[in-house]
Amino acid sequence: MHCGLCLPTCPTYVETGRERSSPRGRIALMRSVADGDLELSRDLAEELDYCVGCLACQTACPAGVEYVSLLEAGRAAGEEAKLLSTPSRSVYRWLGMKLLMTRPWLLRLMARGVSIQQIPWIRKTLYRLGLMYLSPPALRKLEPTAPLMDPPFSDARIDSVESPPAKWWKGEPRARVALLTGCVQDISYARVNRATADVLLAAGCEVVTPRAQPCCGSLHAHNGEVDLAKQMARRTLDQFAPGALTPLDRLDAVISNAGGCGSHLRHYTNLLGDDPAYAELASSWDAKVRDAQEFVWHLVGGRQKAEGSKEAPPSRLETVLEESPSPTGGGARGGGAPGTTSSSSKRLTYDASCHLCHGQKVVNQPVELLRRLPGYEFVPLAESDWCCGAAGVYTITQPEQAGKLLERKLGNLRAAEPDVIATANPGCMHQLNLASRGDESLKIARVVHPMELLAEAVHGSR
Ligand code: SF4
Ligand code: SF4
Repeated sequence: MHCGLCLPTCPTYVETGRERSSPRGRIALMRSVADGDLELSRDLAEELDYCVGCLACQTACPAGVEYVSLLEAGRAAGEEAKLLSTPSRSVYRWLGMKLLMTRPWLLRLMARGVSIQQIPWIRKTLYRLGLMYLSPPALRKLEPTAPLMDPPFSDARIDSVESPPAKWWKGEPRARVALLTGCVQDISYARVNRATADVLLAAGCEVVTPRAQPCCGSLHAHNGEVDLAKQMARRTLDQFAPGALTPLDRLDAVISNAGGCGSHLRHYTNLLGDDPAYAELASSWDAKVRDAQEFVWHLVGGRQKAEGSKEAPPSRLETVLEESPSPTGGGARGGGAPGTTSSSSKRLTYDASCHLCHGQKVVNQPVELLRRLPGYEFVPLAESDWCCGAAGVYTITQPEQAGKLLERKLGNLRAAEPDVIATANPGCMHQLNLASRGDESLKIARVVHPMELLAEAVHGSR
């Protein structure tokens, strides 16, 4: 099919108007290479690198074309042929993807060091003494925009097994779930992992959190490192194999709270389906991975109530969420938005992570939860499902296009006039936080993960 329905949803096509920079164009180019009609060239590798990887085209496609697999295979072929290789790119990829992201202990050690360097007076002193100028120019350029480290990390904040306290849930836990703490999420947003554990406990779940979890491999898969992606997937699965401390068959679900990771984690069969040692486990795994918002909404939202599970006592989370969603605001601040929100309500908007909405198809659940939070007026964000430009390492590999996407997002955010911006992916949180701090109209807006707001409601801290 060549219908072109995906074209208007593609940020790089909308920006350039070029067929080759559209999903249809990229698929046609990759097909020509596969058919032997076109050589795999540097031009093609650059075109695939220019793709944001937002997967908006997958949502738009009526034929169900799974663009992400084609993109990952195309990028892997480009990497194998070293079409984009330069000495500095090779060093940074080796350092980032091969050294740090494959060794959780080293990543955490590095993050501890960076957290010290990020203490304002130490950072200032390092610049004043000229020591920061000893680092490579590329790293120095990135340093002011690096995500803030968030020690202590998840293992120190969350016990390996936590049961719902009696004040939050009566009786046996309604589900036993594993919490995935991620790699970037773990070092930069460990508080989001703690909040997620709290929300799951408040929903009546027992939460199991394996120690020193490895990276899930999504960054490797999206950037053409298929062998490493497979290695990371195997390591992740090893923690849940029969005989491990947390065997998969004793879990009701495996929870991810990072949109990008979850989108990759749900498809381990694509990577390991032909590996006899892992294919079966990967298939059971794919069936159990759930996004945090998706799973929590499934437990406390309409579904179970509609199925008539009336005997179950309400969990703490159910008691704090309002029965009916707040009327949706949308007018200007103080301009008499539709509905009846009090003047003390904070304006809360939601920006969808691309891989959560387009990759995982988790669209309504975060909004449904946020609309039931007491004390907030929910304000819809125009083009919420349009990429903010974070997209993994896109701000580094394609800074110009990433900047354009960010500017478009900021325009929509300014129009929403939010006090709080919720988004469910560490890259998006970082991108929006950094940009809003430098924006006159948005600088007081707080950027949070939906799980943080839910946890605050559960603890009564708002
Ligand atoms: S993933 Fe996004 S940027 Fe890439 S082709 Fe699809 S819509 Fe366009
Ligand atoms: S990828 Fe899907 S939406 Fe895009 S042109 Fe092909 S069939 Fe149509």
